[in-house]
Amino acid sequence: MTAPRIGFIGAGNMASSLIGGMLQQNFKPAQLLASDHNPEQCQRIARQFGISSSTDNAVLAADCDVLLLAVKPQVMREVCQALPAMRKPGQLVISIAAGIDCRSLSRWLGEDTPLVRCMPNTPSLYRQGVSGLYATPSVSNAQKQLTEAIFNAVGISLWLDQESQIDAVTAVSGSGPAYFFYLMEAMINAGEQLGLNRDTAERLTLFTALGAAEMAVQSEVDVAELRRRVTSPGGTTEQAIGSFTADQLPQSIARGMQAAARRAGELA
Ligand code: NAD
Repeated sequence: MTAPRIGFIGAGNMASSLIGGMLQQNFKPAQLLASDHNPEQCQRIARQFGISSSTDNAVLAADCDVLLLAVKPQVMREVCQALPAMRKPGQLVISIAAGIDCRSLSRWLGEDTPLVRCMPNTPSLYRQGVSGLYATPSVSNAQKQLTEAIFNAVGISLWLDQESQIDAVTAVSGSGPAYFFYLMEAMINAGEQLGLNRDTAERLTLFTALGAAEMAVQSEVDVAELRRRVTSPGGTTEQAIGSFTADQLPQSIARGMQAAARRAGELA
């Protein structure tokens, strides 16, 4: 079987990180193509990864088994509607654009187009991403496996049963990195107030976050149990957790994430 040809429309940050990750897995430069209306982006991605590129999106539409739409949401409609109606038969189209649902995509691309909608997150740029995936019923198992291989090249991926769950994924992992940055920012500031210099407070905070995430991923027990194990009665951690609980931090986080999910639904 010949290797499927995968075309990226939009050769920006997300396309570059996906292509970089895929080339470190089993994908070959000859099966990857990219198009971008900006000739400099085309040249850059071709030089960086040794793949073919074009300033004409239609070239990819005719030639590729998979089209991966990696343009900004604002231009998605124009990009889809400008693609030629005669695309490769059975071609899978994957969109990573925030807030564009499958109903809009199928209106712009043709009702019978097999579609995957993906919500990746920014740590994909460092191959530590999490992607939520939703496939329309016409996507085959082989196409699902190929989709997983693409997104697992930059982290991990999970299939969702319903498209509406993409809003929850957006609230948890799409926007999630910013919540952790916010917490780290607060811890760095508090560390400084406790008498550390900023650089020291920052290093302590960042490496604690990294270590805690690694422990949570590797451990056999859940995060609530991990927290209990480091919270000795009468100890220092108990004082901090007691204060966070009195300030209703869990409820505040839940309200923030509900607001994020609501906003994701409004944008779709
Ligand atoms: P980017 O701006 O880096 O890349 C977009 C590319 O599209 C640019 O190179 C631009 O020149 C090109 N482009 C614009 N109009 C075009 C057209 N008509 N034809 C061909 N190319 C065109 O953006 P990005 O950060 O890579 O984001 C791409 C998509 O990924 C967005 O829809 C965004 O919602 C989604 N996304 C990004 C992230 C992230 O971490 N950056 C996370 C989740 C989802």
